[in-house]
Amino acid sequence: GPGVPDGSIRTTCPYCGVGCGVLATPDGRGGAAIAGDPAHPANLGRLCSKGSALAETLGLGSRVLHPLRRNDAGGYDRVSWDVALDEVTDGLKTIIERDGPDAVAFYLSGQLLTEDYYVANKLMKGFIGSAHVDTNSRLCMSSTVAGHKRVLGSDTVPGNYEDLDSADLIVLVGSNTAWCHPVLFRRMQQNRAQRGARIVVIDPRVTATAEDADMMLAIKPGSDSVLFAGLLVHLDANGLTDATYLARHVSGYDEALANARELAPTVASVAERTGLTPVAITSFYELWGATPAVVTAWSQGVNQSAQGTDKVAAILHCHLATGRIGRPGGGPFSLTGQPNAMGGREVGGLANMLAAHMGYSPAEIDRLSRFWQAPNMARHEGLKAVAMLDAVAQQRIKALWVMATNPAVSLPRADQVKAALGSLDLFVVSENVLSNDTLSAKPHFILPAAAWGEKNGTVTNSERRISRQRAFLDLPAEVKPDWWIVCEVAKRLGFVEAFTYGGPDEIYAEHAALSAFENAGTRDFDIGAHAGLPKRAYDALKPVQWPAPAGQPLGTPRLFAQGGFFTGDGRARMVPLAVPALASATSEALPLLLNTGRVRDHWHTMTRTGLSPRLSAHASEPCVHVHPTDAARFGLIEGGFARIANAFGAVVLKVGFDAGVPPGSLFAPIHWSAETASHARIGAAVQPACDPFSGQPEMKATPSSIAPV
Ligand code: SF4
Repeated sequence: GPGVPDGSIRTTCPYCGVGCGVLATPDGRGGAAIAGDPAHPANLGRLCSKGSALAETLGLGSRVLHPLRRNDAGGYDRVSWDVALDEVTDGLKTIIERDGPDAVAFYLSGQLLTEDYYVANKLMKGFIGSAHVDTNSRLCMSSTVAGHKRVLGSDTVPGNYEDLDSADLIVLVGSNTAWCHPVLFRRMQQNRAQRGARIVVIDPRVTATAEDADMMLAIKPGSDSVLFAGLLVHLDANGLTDATYLARHVSGYDEALANARELAPTVASVAERTGLTPVAITSFYELWGATPAVVTAWSQGVNQSAQGTDKVAAILHCHLATGRIGRPGGGPFSLTGQPNAMGGREVGGLANMLAAHMGYSPAEIDRLSRFWQAPNMARHEGLKAVAMLDAVAQQRIKALWVMATNPAVSLPRADQVKAALGSLDLFVVSENVLSNDTLSAKPHFILPAAAWGEKNGTVTNSERRISRQRAFLDLPAEVKPDWWIVCEVAKRLGFVEAFTYGGPDEIYAEHAALSAFENAGTRDFDIGAHAGLPKRAYDALKPVQWPAPAGQPLGTPRLFAQGGFFTGDGRARMVPLAVPALASATSEALPLLLNTGRVRDHWHTMTRTGLSPRLSAHASEPCVHVHPTDAARFGLIEGGFARIANAFGAVVLKVGFDAGVPPGSLFAPIHWSAETASHARIGAAVQPACDPFSGQPEMKATPSSIAPV
């Protein structure tokens, strides 16, 4: 098409959940020119700083290129694929026979493609018979999944990105969208410039997003659900609810309203709990109430919380009460962190889900077992990420296979996690890179997995849009796709027929057929239009929003404007909310709340973005951001070093003064690790307290001390 370079391949960016379309034009020397894809609906040609620098991150300098086996001296020997696969299989077999299937686990990643994820889940949950498959999506948006399932009945995002272009009011809760979903933030800014939309930011910290907002509500950490409970009370008291929608499509409104009145009886009580002024609260409530085309979008400030599920429910309640859901320009919207968090869930990538968004009811287990002809179906939920690593530490899980993620940096209590990994009887890692903190826990096998540019499959972004991520580089040396590695082990375990696939196209065709299997519109995830999709059509697949049931290949832009929730009776269910509280309170010894998050130009544990000098220029080293009054109180010097400590661990970081960080808080970035900057691995000082419904840890409020070093 016009503006599309010759020889370019359409693919998607490997970073955030915006899921931007990318045009990659290989240079024939292992590199490629990168541009935004003007035809992709997520970004319409735009890319952010991270996406634009992708070309600088290609190359084999830091890659693992051959299977490696740990030797007795703690070093690694190159072995053939046959030896590596045989020995990994033997190790799994021995442990399964000795200790049962629940002694083995997979820890996966929102970086995997849907096809990789599908076969890993199929192997563990249908054939090995353990449900211990969890993923770093647990750290990212599992509270949204649980909130959606509790209230909407299914793991469904109702709206889409076009709503951000046509909303009159966009409320961003706990989201530094300008840095973490930059292309979407640009769409919001364009809406404001062209149509006069207003942007409100709710966040304890004055972020780059907040600085650009029309209104900023600097809320006390952990009090979001009070603010939205108060909004529900306001909507009801002012006759702004949609009685028809409530009567037809929602259960539990009276109870939810009574609960909201207890949590937030008056604006004054909301002010006391949230730390906001009554004037600010009232003007926010009036603006929200008066604007039918309102999108409330949220991200990790809501999700990474011991009450994340309640926070999501509190937001959903306000949209349901006004019928502002699934309408152009109006609805609740979760901004997914990772490129394929959603695709992973579609195939059962969380320990509490089965494939195709099914759960562990006897009927669902039976349905899946018949579809797969599975000999060993898992029959109960598996362990979620934090609990899974506890089980590793307690040696209840004895074999763990980590794919495409770096838990020794990213999980809470990262030091203990790293020690636990080192104690496994069998520890296998599928990786791109030759060194990171998880690899320094010394896996028995390091399996060289395909990286972005070499991988071929599908991903699903924040708006339920499935896109092809296409290979534009050859697989180097002995590197293999993740799906292939898993299938080879499955075949060696004796499951030859169920794991013989000619390519990712055949896996996708099966996944699509499963989504439609005995699903007469009863389950949200249905891509029956792609069941048995031939390879040619798979290769040419255009981005499409699920559900795309048989006969509806163009997909579904929005859901629920006319009800139709996947709850059995079709009605959404409002739920009572707990009294808002943080998991742990500050004390004299631990007087500050440690908040963690992202910087603009790095992604996760920097194994890719760290390769680009341009990206590292924006924030070249990790800093703890401290309000100047706290700096004075604790004797900190700007540019000096400080030790942040609590019962879980300690880190040492350079001090940066930041008046946007509220007094009583610290902010530190998640990206750096012991491999990239010693003592800067902030996960070491993050508490493991989790939301009771989602199991997502509260990573933004760990009571901590700080002192100069
Ligand atoms: Fe788009 Fe996110 Fe990639 Fe930036 S990081 S180009 S916003 S997908």
